[in-house]
Amino acid sequence: MEEDRAPARAGAVVKLYNTLGRRLVDFTPIEAGHVRLYTCGPTVYNVVHIGNLRTFVFEDVLRRHFLARGDRVTQVMNLTDVDDKTIRGAQSAGLSLPDFTAKYAEAFFRDIGRLGVQPAEHYPKATEHVPEMIDLIRRLEQRGHTYESEGSVYFRISTFPDYGKLSGIDLEQTRRGDRVADDEYEKEDAKDFALWKAAKPGEPSWPSPWGEGRPGWHIECSAMSMKYLGEHFDIHTGAVDNVFPHHENEIAQSEGATGHPFVDVWLHAEHLIVDGEKMSKSKGNFYTLDDVLARRDDPAAVRYLFLSVPYRKKLNFTWEALSAAAAAVDRIRSAAVRLEEVSRGGRRSGGFPSAERAAGFRTAFAAGLEDDLNTPEALAAVFNYLREVNAAVDDGSLDAEGARVAMDAVAAADGVLGVLPRAPEVLPAEIEERIAARNSARKRRDFRESDRIRDELAARGIVLEDTPGGTRWKKTGSV
Ligand SMILES: [Zn+2]
Repeated sequence: MEEDRAPARAGAVVKLYNTLGRRLVDFTPIEAGHVRLYTCGPTVYNVVHIGNLRTFVFEDVLRRHFLARGDRVTQVMNLTDVDDKTIRGAQSAGLSLPDFTAKYAEAFFRDIGRLGVQPAEHYPKATEHVPEMIDLIRRLEQRGHTYESEGSVYFRISTFPDYGKLSGIDLEQTRRGDRVADDEYEKEDAKDFALWKAAKPGEPSWPSPWGEGRPGWHIECSAMSMKYLGEHFDIHTGAVDNVFPHHENEIAQSEGATGHPFVDVWLHAEHLIVDGEKMSKSKGNFYTLDDVLARRDDPAAVRYLFLSVPYRKKLNFTWEALSAAAAAVDRIRSAAVRLEEVSRGGRRSGGFPSAERAAGFRTAFAAGLEDDLNTPEALAAVFNYLREVNAAVDDGSLDAEGARVAMDAVAAADGVLGVLPRAPEVLPAEIEERIAARNSARKRRDFRESDRIRDELAARGIVLEDTPGGTRWKKTGSV
């Protein structure tokens, strides 16, 4: 199916619920036609769970919605590859920090790929942006927002009167008592947070004006978002548990350094729960994507399930809900197959007002997404439309041309939903040629050569599998 590239509703307003101010706002990008989007990425110390994946799929729908409108999108997602958790994980696995985090970064890209998440424009790694973080801390230092203690640098929140404007946290309330529970006594105030942490023995560290050390987690996102998106950009997203302290601290650091607004709209996805309960390893209801796919190998159904609930509502994951999602995806797929058949059938006239109904569908679908990304409303528009079109196929009123119009409309909607099967991936000709060379090496029993080519392809992210039916290949990681 050809994807329709025409903007669905050029000029229509997108309403988004801004956590900053807690209200729906009419969204307009700072630069006309260009949406700059920062999406907090994974800390690569374990395999992400399905709750994390729900947030990444929500961000993907947001991205695809703007693309479908004809906007350009620059999306940045960081990879946190140095922090307490990654350092501890690498130490207990007996691996270097880069080897340890590379493994989980690869697992992450594999998971989001299976869920049809489009790649962001930039995936900056924290370890590759330490100089930018040091620069930002220096700017904060020059503007009087920091203090140093035993080789670490802290942000003094009392110098930033707007602190709390995102999360609504009342510092006067929380200040009392917290001090005692906090084990970082070197801070002047319990809520002050580390921008730079002094090196501890055996930990990775970088030279800085304050001595050897490493960046704090929050400064990573401020430095990398501003590097790729500018000091003032459109949208910053994450999960609800990022609101405080992570995003509150990002605002303090970024606005403290620049003296002007950092981000216009903050969006936060709610949690995913399982069978009505919080996911936890001890309860045995903690799932990764592999866990889910082992029981039902249908990534599109998982994606659909995520879309079936608005991102600001808690999503209750159950196996029944996943079955229902799989059935819904099947209905969309069968309708697409039927339309394709009618389009090839050559029926010339039928009476179904195809163009008019397709336009109505496109409007209703876009209106759902423009309403703070209300995906269930957009899905309802899909099923209303498919019901009409199916009835028209049944009673013979849909002609071949009308079926093509309907196919285009469904394909355009799927450009955002991403649940229809994707066209089989085509390998670059040069890699096909290497696979053919290996096959002929195997035929002449030159196994040294065939193993050499297999390893060469593996290094490029193509894994070969020899089956009785011939050689199959699959891609690993993000490459
Ligand atoms: Zn972040």
